[in-house]
Amino acid sequence: MKKLSFLSLLLISALLFAPSLTSCKSVGSDIKEEGKIRISCTTFSAFDWARQLTYGSKNAEVMLLTDSGVDIHSYVPSVADAARIASSDIIIYVGSASESFIEDMSPKGARLINLLSLLGEDALEIPKSAAGNHENHDNEGGHGEHDEHVWLSLKNARYFCSVICESLCEADSGNSELYKSNCKEYTKALQSLEDEYYTAASKGKAGLMMFADRFPFVYMLNDCKIDYCAAFEGCSTESGATFETVAIMAKLLSESELCCVVITESTDKRLANTIIAASGKENVQIITMNSIQRVSRTDIDKGKTYIDFMKENLVAFKKALG
Ligand SMILES: [Zn+2]
Repeated sequence: MKKLSFLSLLLISALLFAPSLTSCKSVGSDIKEEGKIRISCTTFSAFDWARQLTYGSKNAEVMLLTDSGVDIHSYVPSVADAARIASSDIIIYVGSASESFIEDMSPKGARLINLLSLLGEDALEIPKSAAGNHENHDNEGGHGEHDEHVWLSLKNARYFCSVICESLCEADSGNSELYKSNCKEYTKALQSLEDEYYTAASKGKAGLMMFADRFPFVYMLNDCKIDYCAAFEGCSTESGATFETVAIMAKLLSESELCCVVITESTDKRLANTIIAASGKENVQIITMNSIQRVSRTDIDKGKTYIDFMKENLVAFKKALG
């Protein structure tokens, strides 16, 4: 009852402040149109998959709940988001602890697509930092907590799309042929990009990638069977690396074939520069990979897609492996 009244309160507030909803930055229309199915997503990647799969359907509207600049790990739904969730037919979310509100706020009968649950035993644990153990990449002895960056695996993306497609066909059976055909085409594109990653991984000299940063790419590197070494575990918001971390990474850099150090889109090059300087190795490049966990409104408005980001990441991936 408590949950229900909380939700009702949110809905009432949402209605009272309806004119201000338009100023909220979620992507998609706030007024659900009669007869349409609404698909709400907490991550850009899921938003884009749903968008690709419903392409050409007049019956589906896809929304991205997190507005630009919001870190998905600390996303708290606004009143307007609560109203959007409450009017959704399909909700696609990662299923991390910080998203537990989805189950509380979703309406009865909505199809909930929890990506981590879908992975089941294939969900990976949060990887350790370099100071933890850089050689341990078969997720043994982790913390038991699952890594949330499930979208950074194209293999996962293909599987998630097949599940999203099934839900779309159930929720809007009149358009099921369209959804199935879109899914088939899109999955082909994902597969072909995935193959490019595998080819790059097999051709790369290093067989190892070094992240002078947090490390959200465990699913990608696990698919590609590439070892890794990262300054911070998982998507930790730690900002200062210990002396021990710098020393371990500098030693590894100097002894390996690595010619690049990777950072993510949200970090500066300071730590990378420190590690490179300490390694004594020359001509080491710093390259950036995108975690796609925080996509700017500008990029969304420009029509950038999940595949666009993953293609950019492939260029960096190839470079990083030498
Ligand atoms: Zn993250």
